[in-house]
Amino acid sequence: MKYKRILLKLSGEALMGNKQYGIDIDRVAQYAQDIKAVYDEGVEIAIVIGGGNIYRGLSAEKAGMDRVQADYMGMLATVINSMALQDALEKAGMKTRLLTAIKMEQICEPFIRRRAVRHLEKGRIVIFGAGTGNPYFTTDTAASLRAIEINADVVLKGTRVDGIYTADPEKDPNATKFDQITFQDVYNQGLNVMDMTAFTLCQENKLPIIVFDMNKSGNLVRLAQGELIGTLVKD
Ligand code: UDP
Repeated sequence: MKYKRILLKLSGEALMGNKQYGIDIDRVAQYAQDIKAVYDEGVEIAIVIGGGNIYRGLSAEKAGMDRVQADYMGMLATVINSMALQDALEKAGMKTRLLTAIKMEQICEPFIRRRAVRHLEKGRIVIFGAGTGNPYFTTDTAASLRAIEINADVVLKGTRVDGIYTADPEKDPNATKFDQITFQDVYNQGLNVMDMTAFTLCQENKLPIIVFDMNKSGNLVRLAQGELIGTLVKD
């Protein structure tokens, strides 16, 4: 295996599968199988999940809600997704712990960095819920931040597209895909990989990002084995 410790970022929308809202249990079970293939190889796995399939602070603000209130609701949505994934991972035979940035003693542990690292060392999958715990941030930023804190080798950003393109491939038929690109070129070309806060954190800490298609079964384990799938962003 190329990586010893990975941080997998999944968007909330990925959990919807073909549904318009909420969680598609079959899709989550499929992800669990993909994650198991990597788990069985002894790779240490941390996961951050978004909440966009349930609630997004920015959209709620546009609809008239107080932004901070809405962002906290978004963070709670990530905990619901995290619990769904935790259930699927455990059903598939993996050991897990859910650690959240907002305390919820009855359902998970609070985020404590040393404890997270200890869980990983013991072979437990650690899911980080509730984003960074702060409004105005995203779960991409939570993913970058936690990856740096636990000293992960790479952030694997699982999406619906198979990498970073010169333009949006769903809109521009001439868009071409990068196999590899530097942080600086992403910035210079104004490409959309993560929001700027998340992206800058990775760049400043020389933490590589791989954007890949999580819906293609087997991609995750191939990536962990070192195959170049999707787009690698590094210095
Ligand atoms: N959120 C937040 N702080 C964080 C992470 C998330 O306030 O550190 C809120 C924010 O409202 C966001 C929502 O949680 O819209 C869901 O997260 P995100 O949009 O990152 O989910 P994704 O797009 O990955 O599904």
